[in-house]
Amino acid sequence: MIIERLKQSGLKGRGGAGFPTGLKWEAVKNAKADKKYIICNASEGEPGVAKDFFILKKYPEEVIKGIKIALKEIDNSSAYIFLNPKYFPKLEKKLKKAIGILPIVLFKKPHGYICGEESTLLNIIEGKSKLPRLKPPFPTEKGLWDRPTLINNVETFYQVFQIAQGKYQADRFYTLGGKVKKKGVFRLPENLAIKQILEQTGNWPNFDFFVQAGGGMSGEILTSAELDKPAGGAGSVIIYKRSSDPMKVLRQWAKFFMNESCGQCVPCREGTFRLNEALKKKNFNQEMVNDLLFVLAETSLCPLGRGAAVPFIGYLNKIYARKN
Ligand code: SF4
Repeated sequence: MIIERLKQSGLKGRGGAGFPTGLKWEAVKNAKADKKYIICNASEGEPGVAKDFFILKKYPEEVIKGIKIALKEIDNSSAYIFLNPKYFPKLEKKLKKAIGILPIVLFKKPHGYICGEESTLLNIIEGKSKLPRLKPPFPTEKGLWDRPTLINNVETFYQVFQIAQGKYQADRFYTLGGKVKKKGVFRLPENLAIKQILEQTGNWPNFDFFVQAGGGMSGEILTSAELDKPAGGAGSVIIYKRSSDPMKVLRQWAKFFMNESCGQCVPCREGTFRLNEALKKKNFNQEMVNDLLFVLAETSLCPLGRGAAVPFIGYLNKIYARKN
């Protein structure tokens, strides 16, 4: 019943990948196993995304009720909330109160961006190394301790509860950051164009700017003329002023991804390191950087490496090219 309603609502995961929620629930429900798991991913490690913290702080009971619906729908299941370590001390009491006697474990995520990737968090809960797993198999078939596992984001569980209550309004939570006048989390329709998001929140810049939209620091780069599309991904919108130093932002991204790479696969381990080295030079070899980005995007093992290439490719083609 709830799965049909999730499908009809068109709800897609709000963690970034945007997989249809109803289909994911159905896959876990129909999988044959003696035990199943539900995980609420509250790791929120991307710089520029803060909506899950906002939701957990403001609506902890609704999120827990969303998880409770999953516990009821999926036989022989128990749940985890995989919580960002910075959020843990601020939310522990509130969440434990909302959990009460439900079979939900509050699990403190270790530090590190990669720890929030869904297969890495499975390894972490199992006490293994903080490394992503090869997919397939997907967690819906072989997740925690090889059992079918439903992994959804905080906002997704919040919206599941709204759907169950007949109160879903096809809206979402956007994190606005960077050079905006009013930073913060805003609740607006899910398909609203970025241009309207900026206008309706009083954040349309009065300077020459570009936007990084969707997945925090891995988000897509858009010029101010390309904002007739929704933010997508995890719903972040970061404003950058077109700087007189176009290398500054590239170096900032390169350092972040190099430091956060887990080192398991060569394209990302070597690629992010070499990218960081190459971009230290003022007149960097753009052909070599393009090759590194191609390999990073096409052959990295997990979304961190593949996503790392996205902002560089957009910036080099749309912003850097115009300045140089
Ligand atoms: S893409 Fe990067 S973060 Fe992901 S497995 Fe490879 S080295 Fe690790």
